[in-house]
Parts: sequence; structure tokens; C-alpha cells
Amino acid sequence: SDGWATTRFVVLGFGTAGYACADSLLQAGAEHVTVLDDRDNEALREKAQILETLGAAITLGPGSTAELPKDVDIVVTSPGIPPYAPLLAQADEREVPIWSEIELAWRLRDPANAAPWLCITGTNGKTTTVQMLTAMLTAAGHRAVAAGNVGLPLLEVVMDPEPYDVIAVELSSYQLHFTHSMSAHSAAVLNLAPDHVDWHGSMEAYAKDKGRIYENCQIACVYNVADPVTEQLVIDADVIEGCRAIGFTLGTPGLSMVGLVEDLLVDRAFVEQRETSALELAKLADVTPPAPHNVANALAAAALARAFGVPATAVRDGLRGFTPDKHRIAHVAEVAGVNYVDDSKATNPHAAQASLLAYEHVVWIAGGQAKGATFDELVLAARDRLRGVVLLGQDKQVIAEALARHAPDVPVITVEATDTGAMQIVVGEAAKLAQVGDTVLLAPGCASWDMFANYGARGDAFAEAVHRLGGV
Ligand code: ADP
Repeated sequence: SDGWATTRFVVLGFGTAGYACADSLLQAGAEHVTVLDDRDNEALREKAQILETLGAAITLGPGSTAELPKDVDIVVTSPGIPPYAPLLAQADEREVPIWSEIELAWRLRDPANAAPWLCITGTNGKTTTVQMLTAMLTAAGHRAVAAGNVGLPLLEVVMDPEPYDVIAVELSSYQLHFTHSMSAHSAAVLNLAPDHVDWHGSMEAYAKDKGRIYENCQIACVYNVADPVTEQLVIDADVIEGCRAIGFTLGTPGLSMVGLVEDLLVDRAFVEQRETSALELAKLADVTPPAPHNVANALAAAALARAFGVPATAVRDGLRGFTPDKHRIAHVAEVAGVNYVDDSKATNPHAAQASLLAYEHVVWIAGGQAKGATFDELVLAARDRLRGVVLLGQDKQVIAEALARHAPDVPVITVEATDTGAMQIVVGEAAKLAQVGDTVLLAPGCASWDMFANYGARGDAFAEAVHRLGGV
């Protein structure tokens, strides 16, 4: 529309998100698009050239984001940039609206032809749940896609000329912070534990940003019965009249909940009133991996699918056909009667705790960048299962101290090496601690950037070391 042409946009950050935002704005007919990024390198300059030919003005290099240009109507920001960054603070002062890429995608949708959004956030389990949901929607015959934080930019999906029936959207707290007018068909907050608190300022602010997913929700707000803060976020949200609160639980579900009855996943929320008993959705055995936290993910996905009208059989078929992404509780090998499991994606203590609780006897491999997190709760919950612990990386001391406080009898080996051979030493030490039937679990509870390019590279290094240990 005309609005896009005359509005003066500043896109802050020129990573994947920033590029997608600027590109989409130009496609929508915006004529005043300025992109700012403090970084400058060959790759960025190449990308800049492409957009400059389309009419964008791009400024790269140190100092580029120090000052908000004078005539700006809207700032579109990137997820890595915290709200207290100077340019965003200036925008806030001058009452210039700040949009996330999600806000932009919502506004760029063609309302006449727009697929409903089923949205998921939470500290852990987002990607897994979004993918389970997509599998269920696909099994029901819908043209569905997983987008957002999972990797495929939501903007790309929204601008796709061939429309989808429905979009499963993964949202991070960063993205939600600057999202204002989104109105999800249905939305879920899976769980809340401390992570990225630096960015948001406090745990309360982090929770509040997560809760924005429920604002203007249309059909169902899905919350975690075991995590009362998520239910409070539903209560606090302004939703569309008639929107329902639906709980998911690993216990027996009450009315308006999905949950477990013996070894069955059941629905007591989206059933005909005449039906007295709960509706069977799937069996526990249909969920891979069968860890409790993952069953919770499956139930949350099922609640959203049912809210969209997916039949029970498609919930089941979707779960059966689902395989988790790499580095998420992935079985690597069995060596000398010991199971080796890669959960490198467990990058905070809450995630690591969930996977530790899935095994009876564990040698735990942990460490990396702790991002200010504490490990006391994890150690208290998991100490009886720990055969031993092998620590690596920058913040191993934080974990060692929590272990010394709450599990002084558990043997702890710290590995000082940080070079490419470090993981082989770690796995060797873990093998010495393990007994036949045990699990050696890489669930670092920390980010990987001190020693590896990302969590994937860390998981690959682990798998290689395990295979070498087994002589493969
Ligand atoms: P996200 O996209 O939120 O990072 P993933 O689905 O990629 O979540 O899972 C990341 C890790 O979090 C997993 O490897 C597992 O260790 C842990 N995890 C998954 N689901 C849950 C859950 N519901 N509660 C706690 N931890 C979980």
C-alpha cells in the first residue's frame, strides 16, 4: 500500500533477520529503507550490494548504529540486539515504534489470504514441539510449515506466493519483546526457567516477554500445568473473546486439559460435551525420545493441533513419523555396554536437568559458557543418578562448586584442555567412570562458544570421540 512507500524505515542489524526484513520491505514497496550494522566484512558488503541495487541505503562498520537518523518513522530490529542498545534507547525516547521481524511479518501478511499462526515459545523444547506440531498438521493433510526461530524466516513464508494452510511458528523471547499486534490462532508457553536474563533485564521481564505470545490470541492459550507462571501469563493476557485456556500435564488431565492416563496421551479439552471419557490421542510409545520432558512437548503440540481441528489419528501419525533434530538426546553408540547420548542442544541447566532425569545411572558431561546460570537446582534433582561427572570449558568451576555443595560423594573429573583434542580426553574419562548399563550423557547446560563454533560442532566432536573410543 501507499503507507509502505512513504514510511521511513531503519533496519537495525544486517544478519539473517536484518537482511530478510530489508528485503521484504523493499518487496512490499518501501522506498526509504536504511540498514545499519556495526560490523563490516566481505560477506556483509556483498549482501549490501544486492539490496543497494534494489534501493536500500546501507551503512556498515564501527559507529554505524551509534545515532538514530533524524527522520525515522519505524525501527525494525534484529533478535541479537538488546533493548538497551543506544539506538533502540534513542528510538524509545523519541517514541519511534520498534518492530521485530515477527511484527513485520504479521503486518506484511496478505490478510485476505493469510494462514493462521500456531505459535510456540518457552525456555526449552521450542524447536522439538514446533516440529512435532508440523508433523501432526501434515498428517492431517494440511499444507503446513515450521518457521520463525527454527531456521526458516517467517518473513519468507509470509511472502511465499503459494500460501500455506497453517504455520507452526517458533518464537524466542527476543522476538516477542518487540512484537505488538500479532494475533495467533493459538499459542503455547512450554516452560520458563532462567536463560537470556541479561538481555531482558530480569526474570520478570523475561517471563513478561514470553507472555506476549498470548496477546490477542483467538482460539486457545496452551499452558504448562506444572509451571504455574505460564498459567498466570494466560490470565494476564488480553485475548479475543471466546479464547480458551488449555493446560497440558504429565498427570491425569482435568477438564480443558490434555494429559496422560496410564500409557495414553488423552484429550479432555477438545472433545464433544456428550463424550464422558477422555479421547485417546496416542500411546506413550509413539513419542521419541520417550523422556518425560519430551512427552510434555508432545502434549503441548497435540493441544495446539487439536485447537486447529486436527483429528486424533493425525496426532498419533504425526508423532509416529517424527524424528528429533540432531543433538537433541541423540543416541550415538553403545561401547562396552555403555550408552553414549548427545544432547549438546541442552545449553542451559533447565534443559540439562530434563535430560539427566530421563536416565537411571548417568555419567554427565557438562560445561562451557554458563551465561550467569546456577546449577544448584539441577544437582539437587539429579545427584542420585550421577555415577560421575566430567567437566570442560570456561565455566566448569561454577558446576564443580554446585556439585561440591550438594553431591560431595560424586566423583568429578575436570578437563583443562580446550584444543580440538579436549573432547577425546573428556570421553575417555567418562568411559572410565561408567559401568555396564550406564549412560554417558553430553548435556552441557552451557553455551558452546568458548570452545566450539556452535552446539552442533560440540555434538559432532563428542560423537567422533565416542566412535574413536569404540574403535570405529
Ligand atoms: P529450543 O528450541 O527451545 O532450544 P529444543 O527442542 O531444540 O528447544 O530442545 C533443546 C534442549 O532442551 C533439548 O536437547 C533438551 O535437552 C531440552 N528440552 C527439550 N524439551 C524440554 C522441555 N519440555 N523441558 C525441559 N527441557 C527440554
